[in-house]
Amino acid sequence: MERTMLNINNLTAHYGAAQALFGVDLKVDAGRTVALVGANGAGKSTLLKCIMGLVKPTGGTIHFEEQGTTGKAPAYMVRQGVVLSPEGREVFGHLSVLENLKLGAVSLKLAKGEQSARMTEVFERFPKLSERREQLAGTLSGGEQQMLAMGRALMAKPRLLLLDEPSLGLAPLITDEIFAIIHQLARAGTSILLVEQNAARALSASDNAYLLANGRIVEQGDSKKLLNDPALRSTFLGAASQDNPAASRLGAAGLTNIRLEKPDMHQQNFMPDFKSAEELKAHQLTGLKWTVKHAYEGSSFYRESLDQAGIKPEEVTALSDLTKLPFTTADDLREGYPFPLRAVPFEQVARIHASSGTTGKRKVLSYTQKDLDDWTHFFARCYQMAGVTPLDRVQVAVGYGVWTAGMGFQLGCEKLGALAVPVGPGNIDMQIQFLLDFQSTVFCSTASMALLMAEEIHRRGVADKISVKKIIYGSERSSNSMRNKISELFGGAELFDITGLTELYGPGTGIECSDHDCIHYWGDYYILEIIDPETLQPVADGEWGEMVVTTLCKEGAPLIRYRTRDITRIIPGPCTCGSLLPRHSRIKGRSDDTLKFRGVNIYPSSIDTILSAVPGLGSEYQIHLTRDDAGRDHMKLIVERAEGVAAARAPELVHEAGHQIKKQLLVSVKLELVNYGSLPRSERKSQRVFDNRLEDDII
Ligand code: ZN
Repeated sequence: MERTMLNINNLTAHYGAAQALFGVDLKVDAGRTVALVGANGAGKSTLLKCIMGLVKPTGGTIHFEEQGTTGKAPAYMVRQGVVLSPEGREVFGHLSVLENLKLGAVSLKLAKGEQSARMTEVFERFPKLSERREQLAGTLSGGEQQMLAMGRALMAKPRLLLLDEPSLGLAPLITDEIFAIIHQLARAGTSILLVEQNAARALSASDNAYLLANGRIVEQGDSKKLLNDPALRSTFLGAASQDNPAASRLGAAGLTNIRLEKPDMHQQNFMPDFKSAEELKAHQLTGLKWTVKHAYEGSSFYRESLDQAGIKPEEVTALSDLTKLPFTTADDLREGYPFPLRAVPFEQVARIHASSGTTGKRKVLSYTQKDLDDWTHFFARCYQMAGVTPLDRVQVAVGYGVWTAGMGFQLGCEKLGALAVPVGPGNIDMQIQFLLDFQSTVFCSTASMALLMAEEIHRRGVADKISVKKIIYGSERSSNSMRNKISELFGGAELFDITGLTELYGPGTGIECSDHDCIHYWGDYYILEIIDPETLQPVADGEWGEMVVTTLCKEGAPLIRYRTRDITRIIPGPCTCGSLLPRHSRIKGRSDDTLKFRGVNIYPSSIDTILSAVPGLGSEYQIHLTRDDAGRDHMKLIVERAEGVAAARAPELVHEAGHQIKKQLLVSVKLELVNYGSLPRSERKSQRVFDNRLEDDII
């Protein structure tokens, strides 16, 4: 049984003739965070002021640590350890940060040493305040003023901290920061009574909660239960907010203008429920058997292909039988145009998507409604794995249309319950405008587009005015130096590489986890094999090869051993992030874009890796291949210097990069350094390889 720290019984309060509180009962147990949620004018601040001694109650009692404190003076309450961080911050604008902090402990008459020790603690918790210690509080941003108000309260070392509307008027990212600090304080043992209009925030940050309306407690209990209570949700939903003053006024009389941000989306889980690798394998076997039977019965292509290989669906009885099945290739898809691999009647096809293929016929895939639902579900899982929540604003800067990209990002985002900003690719001006105006917290694009945006953000000097904390990018290889550059110019955003291909639903079939050393892939939707692209034999776990996928529940166009041409490797063993979902390395390249140069097979990504490791080189480069009259191949690398690196360093950098390439790839290349920013940036995939050797001399 927890000790009751604050105990309020039957409290009433008046402002003149108007009654503000009607017999309020409320308790805060030691070490707990309790939320007090209610609309403007519900009486929340009045209650806090009564506890603090700023307003004298007209009835009822307040006990702190079993002592009656009803009507005691504020200075007395501070000495008992009860401290208020007031609504609207109430910092002294003409005083510096330091002077404001000193005021927080003035009634305690601390010795100089103790005062500076406490100040050091506050600065440790709020490094931003430390940087601005001499600055006048009036010149701080809203978020910094909130930090200052909290820091000032912490100077008194509260045992019970009363926080009045800490998120009021703050951008979501700043609110996140403030709430992260509230969590830290709670973990450190401070009891907190948190007053918030933003009900979702308050309920998710607290242990239990009281809902106050018109001066009365109308609901109380476990915060998580309240958050998921359907009746409460329907009361709050569609609620007005400060964004809509007219509706707020209508709702001001009751609870209806509490801002509960999409509570039904709260804590939705899109992760699979298997508990071990064995359970996953059993699931995969069921899916494999179903897929082979379904494909054989529904698709003339697969029936022919399986018949040719001499395999009947009922002969698939173990996962190891997978290797007996024939491969499916991109050519099979093209030859089956316009509806290749289709395994259901047309009346069950709910949608088609096509690849943005540039050569030959496009790859067209048929989806049933279940396929679309599955895709949506695991795309939401991608967002969940990247730590995106319903409170995020997701700016989707990939293509919408017949290809899968935009649609997948959009559906997954809506499923998760986050706010989608569907912009599509390009349009840099509008993208930046939206990042500023909507304060998008997640940006989705190709790596090239992300780099383009990053450089533009840097050029305009707006990095500290945007709130992007996560970048989800895909469909293209990216070097580490490119990733670092993007993150840095976006003000430290976290990058997540997302995988996928049209043939296999679309993007979202796997994503980098927050530990950033692997891609988790959705083994409950498809089996991933790695084969040697030359011998077509499976390679051992950990070895690089071509990714081959077999779907487990795809109806419209199932895939059996589809050769993706993507080069990766399986990473065995569990991930440090704790997820049981299997994993592979980031895609290194494509088995069909290996450069054959003087008898050596080179993945363009190995050039990435080598250049990334030479300090002073930028992330952008081009590979030009030519053949001379004597039939000898030549490779020229055009590489940008990193930003701010002097042209005079070129000879040294050329020497170092050339040496590393020779050492690691065993080939000699000609290097040319160019100024930072001089190579073309693209909004889609940047072309890096220019092969000017004539492969077929056709007259
Ligand atoms: Zn992980």
